[in-house]
Amino acid sequence: MPKNFSSLYLHIPFCIKKCNYCGFYSLPYREERVKLFISAILKEIELTRNLPHLIKTIYIGGGTPSCLPVKYLEIILQTLLKNYKIDKDIEFTIEVNPGTITQEKINLFKSYGINRISIGAQSFLDSELKILGRIHNVKDIIKTAHIIKNSGIENISVDLIYGIPKQTLDNFKFSLKAATSLEIKHISIYELTIERGTPMEKNLKNGKINLLNDDAIEQMYLFASEFLDEKGFYKYEISNFARQNYESLHNIAYWQRMAYLGLGPAAFSYLNGWRFYNPGNISLYFKYLSKNKLPWIREYEIKGIEELKEKIILGLRMKQGITLDSLCLINFFEELEKLKLTRINGNKVSLTDKGMLLSNEIFAKVLLHIENCSVCKQV
Ligand code: SF4
Repeated sequence: MPKNFSSLYLHIPFCIKKCNYCGFYSLPYREERVKLFISAILKEIELTRNLPHLIKTIYIGGGTPSCLPVKYLEIILQTLLKNYKIDKDIEFTIEVNPGTITQEKINLFKSYGINRISIGAQSFLDSELKILGRIHNVKDIIKTAHIIKNSGIENISVDLIYGIPKQTLDNFKFSLKAATSLEIKHISIYELTIERGTPMEKNLKNGKINLLNDDAIEQMYLFASEFLDEKGFYKYEISNFARQNYESLHNIAYWQRMAYLGLGPAAFSYLNGWRFYNPGNISLYFKYLSKNKLPWIREYEIKGIEELKEKIILGLRMKQGITLDSLCLINFFEELEKLKLTRINGNKVSLTDKGMLLSNEIFAKVLLHIENCSVCKQV
C-alpha cells in the first residue's frame, strides 16, 4: 500500500430534488446549509493538505455537484488547486445533472482544468426519466452534451440505467443508440436497484410498479455489451465501457485498491491500508470540522482475510481480472469455469460476460468460501 494518496473524491451532498430510486447521501439544496458546507469542506481541505500525496485523479461527485451556483463551485475548485500537489496529467472529473447545466458552469470547469465530465443522463426517453423522478428531460441531456463538446472538453461519459419499470429491450436499445450518437468517450450502465426507504420501494410494495424479470435484465445487459463493443466501446469493468485510452482512471484506482482521500459527508478514504469513514450526517460532519478535527468517525485496517476478500471482489469487477497465489481459490474458480462464469489462464482469473451478469451471486459465494475455508483463513 503506497504511503502517498494519488486520488481524491469530493462529495457534494445536495440535489434539487431527490430521485425516486436514490439511496445516495444527498439533501435538498438550502442556501444556509450550503454556506455551512462550503466552510466545512474548505476546513477539511486545510486539514488534509499536508498528508503525503501527488494527485493524479480528482472526482467531484454527489449528490449533484452541478446544482451549486458558480460562486461556490469556484471557491471549491480554487481551494483544491491551491492546497494540493496536482500531477500535470491529472484526470479531473465532475458529475453533472443535465437539469442544472449552464454555459457559465462549463466554462468555469474548463478554466479550472476539469477535463472529464460525467453526465447523469440515465435514459433518453422522457417517460422513463419521469418514472425515475429525474429533474431533467431528453432535450436537457442533448443540450448539455453540446455545451460540453463546444467548450473543448472531449472526454464525456454518460450514465444509463436499465431495468426501469416498464422498460422494454427496444427502449433500452434506443437510449444506448442515442447516447453513443453524442460522440462520447465512455458509458456506464447500471441496473436499477431498489433502495430501502425510497419512493420506488414504496410503489413496489403497494403494487404501483413492477420490476422486470431476470431474463429481461439479462437480455439488456448482454445486448449492451455486444452493441457497445460494435460501436468501439470496450468493456473494462462490469458496468463500464470506454473507447481506447478513455477508461476512468479514478475508478480504476478504487478497483486496484490504490490510496485515496474522500472529502465531504459520507465520503470514505483508504490510506496506508486503513479505511476511514466520514459521517453520513451533515450536522455531525459540521461539528467535527468546526472543532478543527478531521471527521473520521470509523476507521479500521484492511489486512489478512479482509484484504484477500477486497482484492478478489474489487479485482474481479475488471475485465482483466486478478492473479491468485492460492491454489485453493484457483480450484474454487475452476468449478465456476465449468459453468462458463470464469476464465482461468494459469493463475489469472477473470469473469466471462455471463459471470459479470451474475457477479453479485459469484461474489457472495467467494466470500462464503473464504470465511469457511481453513486454507484461505491462513493468509
Ligand atoms: S441526482 Fe443523483 S444523487 Fe441526486 S437524488 Fe438523483 S440519483 Fe440521487
